[in-house]
Amino acid sequence: CGIIGILGHHEVAPQLVEALKRLEYRGYDSAGVATVDAAGQLARRRAVGKLVNLSDRLVHEPLTGHSGIGHTRWATHGAATEVNAHPHRRGPVAVVHNGIIENFRELRDEVIALGLHPESQTDTETVALLTAWHMDQGMDPVEAARATLSRLEGAFALAFLFEGETDLMIAARRGSPLALGHGNGEMFLGSDAIALAPFTDRITYLEDGDHAVIRRAGAEIFDAAVRPANREIAQIDVGA
Ligand code: GLU
Repeated sequence: CGIIGILGHHEVAPQLVEALKRLEYRGYDSAGVATVDAAGQLARRRAVGKLVNLSDRLVHEPLTGHSGIGHTRWATHGAATEVNAHPHRRGPVAVVHNGIIENFRELRDEVIALGLHPESQTDTETVALLTAWHMDQGMDPVEAARATLSRLEGAFALAFLFEGETDLMIAARRGSPLALGHGNGEMFLGSDAIALAPFTDRITYLEDGDHAVIRRAGAEIFDAAVRPANREIAQIDVGA
């Protein structure tokens, strides 16, 4: 189980898969990536089993775009199927998630009552559904992600990507670790610095309860009370 995100200047799909390989040691049963292309179009590919299955899928059905998120899944809620694999998507929102949303049943009932129908058995999909619903009500992506995050219980790391937003990722952590990587006009996020080593050694670790609004120019980090937070950028030597 691992998360990766890139706002870069190159085709990200191969970079995402490459970075996910560096998270393989954590174990996983399926994998997936989502990208936003130059026109703002959001698309995803997912595959059960090893990363080579995802790479094969991408050879036959390539994804373009310089912005993207990726995931290796270790199923906790719902079998290891393609439908349950991440990224989960609803409308303009794609989400990858490690950990568990403890109150997902309550949230799932809530989104069903709002007329949204989950297509997977995962706890994660409720995050995409709720965020898409908030955007449908007129919130911008940052407001919508925050409104969703304020409802979540459990231990998790999350990354959001949005259709129509070529320069935006949102990351959040509670319990599970999450690192931001600073490049030259590029930004990265990952479950650990090892995953980011091919791209950068300038790392910011989010603290518990933090979320980050990430653009190529840099990241704005907020604490659990949604106050701007200063988190240091450290030079990390993990050996690329
Ligand atoms: N609970 C989520 C799922 O089962 C995420 C699992 C993980 O950490 O990979 O899909």
